Amino acid sequence: MELVVLGSGTCVPNLKRSCSAYYIKADNVHILFDIGFGTLRRMLEAGIDYREIDYIFCSHTHLDHVGDLAPLLMAINHTPGFKRKKNLTIVGPPNFINFMRQLGETFGINAIASSTFQLTIKEMEEETIQFEDFKIQSMLMAHNRIANGYRLTQKKKTIAYTGDTQHCLQAVALLHDAALGILDCSFPDNQPVEGHLTPSLAAEIAQKAGCEKIILSHFYPMMEKIDIIQICKKIYNGDINIAEDLEKYKI
Ligand SMILES: [Zn+2]
Ligand SMILES: [Zn+2]
Repeated sequence: MELVVLGSGTCVPNLKRSCSAYYIKADNVHILFDIGFGTLRRMLEAGIDYREIDYIFCSHTHLDHVGDLAPLLMAINHTPGFKRKKNLTIVGPPNFINFMRQLGETFGINAIASSTFQLTIKEMEEETIQFEDFKIQSMLMAHNRIANGYRLTQKKKTIAYTGDTQHCLQAVALLHDAALGILDCSFPDNQPVEGHLTPSLAAEIAQKAGCEKIILSHFYPMMEKIDIIQICKKIYNGDINIAEDLEKYKI
């Protein structure tokens, strides 16, 4: 699988860090984990075609994770000369279908059905679903809005994405034995905020889970001055990476 970090930042505008979004190519399937505002532009910069996305897994409905959903649907439906034929599946946590309906009403777009292609909106709670040749397991995380973490498994390789969460047992279970974990690392250890992780807490989760390699992400501005790797190395003995927008990984 291939991974491209499209957004390692938060709601705070930052030229180097766009809102949460990760692109995964699993054989010929194009997948997004989250689609915060700014993602469409980052996709252009990364050379990823917005018309080709097959699946979007939204962790939760904070704007820094779903802000470009309506713009994506509008772009797919209104690009001159383009008529989408292939299916699009958008998955979110409980109450997501209602959220999509409201999004459609607000922006006057059809966000729950399309005339030219099959649009499927799905809610996942604590369950596992086989999609084509990959499997997704969702687990509820501990955030200030109902939020899923996702485990994507293809050919015995697993990528786990926490979305936004604070330290919880489910996050350890989510990352269990994963080849790669993408973790919230929003705030410094000495300024923790409920609903998010700090470097030490993220490292502790990864260590307990036996996750091989981690990408720490979702950085608020104060994180730029912190030596995150130095802190995490004392707790976690796997491979530690700091997310940067447009960086690519092979899994
Ligand atoms: Zn959030
Ligand atoms: Zn967030």
